[in-house]
Amino acid sequence: MANFAETTGWHPHLWHPTTQVVSSPTPMRVRCAKGSELELDDGRVLIDAISSWWVTLHGHAEPSIAAAISRQAVLLEQVIFANFSHEPAEDLATKLSALTGLDRLFFSDNGSTAVEVALKIAWQWWRNQGSKRHQLIAFEGAYHGDTFGAMALGDRSLFTEAYEPLLFNVARVAWPHCHWGDNSVELQEQQALSQLALALETPTAAVILEPLLQGASGMRQVRPGFLRAVAEMVQGSGALLIADEVFTGFGRTGALFACEKAGIKADLMALSKGLTGGFMPMGATMASERLYQGFISERPTDTFFHGHSFTANPLGCAAALASLELLQQNSERFSGFEERHIPLLKQLSINPLVRQPRCLGSMAAFEVNAGENSYLNPVGKQIQRHCLELGVYLRPLGNVVYLLPPLCISDSQLQRCYGALEQALDALA
Ligand SMILES: *Cc1c(COP(=O)(O)O)cnc(C)c1O
Repeated sequence: MANFAETTGWHPHLWHPTTQVVSSPTPMRVRCAKGSELELDDGRVLIDAISSWWVTLHGHAEPSIAAAISRQAVLLEQVIFANFSHEPAEDLATKLSALTGLDRLFFSDNGSTAVEVALKIAWQWWRNQGSKRHQLIAFEGAYHGDTFGAMALGDRSLFTEAYEPLLFNVARVAWPHCHWGDNSVELQEQQALSQLALALETPTAAVILEPLLQGASGMRQVRPGFLRAVAEMVQGSGALLIADEVFTGFGRTGALFACEKAGIKADLMALSKGLTGGFMPMGATMASERLYQGFISERPTDTFFHGHSFTANPLGCAAALASLELLQQNSERFSGFEERHIPLLKQLSINPLVRQPRCLGSMAAFEVNAGENSYLNPVGKQIQRHCLELGVYLRPLGNVVYLLPPLCISDSQLQRCYGALEQALDALA
């Protein structure tokens, strides 16, 4: 098996994420990107229909964000954030506090660390008070990131199997996801709420969820009313509610934040992905003032001893400020996106291979009615290959196919995405 990679055209010094070399095509080399399009070394141009793993919010190479980063880079590119502060970080904290209703911002580098920080704050906040609330609750199908705490909170899956003995215990509650025309959802919601009520009888430190939409487990959507019932139950019990908005934040669900759309207010919120418009790796954990105050004390052990080298990186802050400004100035771009998906998804759903269509904000998804519901179902890769030939880049989650384009995508480009899917499905049948 020596040098399998070299013999098959893979780079001898790179290791790609969630990629099995023996069963994957070699990576496509990208030369540049603009708007919704990626331009490859070989001259091909692809529509990036999944916003490059859900981060490219407005579009690639968005000029105002690029300019903001460039201005910041010659002013202050980085400074240690203990002992120092700076304007971009202060401005971003002030803005995000106003938008989320959570007064404190703690910076990290990505979505997983934003979740780790939320978890550590919740856990230590109780400990600082001498409380014995030790249970954590999360939902079936949850994905919160690939670091150990985030993995433990996420549901067990193929992705976490190797590390099982190292993952701490979490109580797990059903996630009553639904789709167009679903008539069993009410019963499932009631069952999930009963499960949650039972779990909350054990003293609970925190409950974490992906508000309105679980991403990685297959674009699984719940109804706002369910989320309100969950929040009421959780916060009524005294437990903290953590909203993982790493994916749903910044307009993805049609409102600036999914919590806002659902009408709930979490105690902690994890943000990343769209935070910088997809330009810079950055995470932010928003916390209520009540939680912040629980760390202010004469006892050294009450301190939140957590910090990343690149905390509050000024380039990331500048990108995030520019991205927020774009979002606020063009709010109809995200609030109106669902209306663009609906007629196209309806049309596609006539195909008998399309099952359980659903749509929220800029996300549209369905299950391919072939084989089992599994990440390893090969049908997704067949569809990916076919769409690539038609100039559309997708990355289905097993047999769950979804579109999550950048906000700048044109009507004709969006139609091309649906057209490619239609052809790919016809080829399957
Ligand atoms: C992507 C994602 C994460 C992890 O973010 P990374 O930046 O990949 O570490 C956490 N939570 C949710 C809901 C996500 O979609």
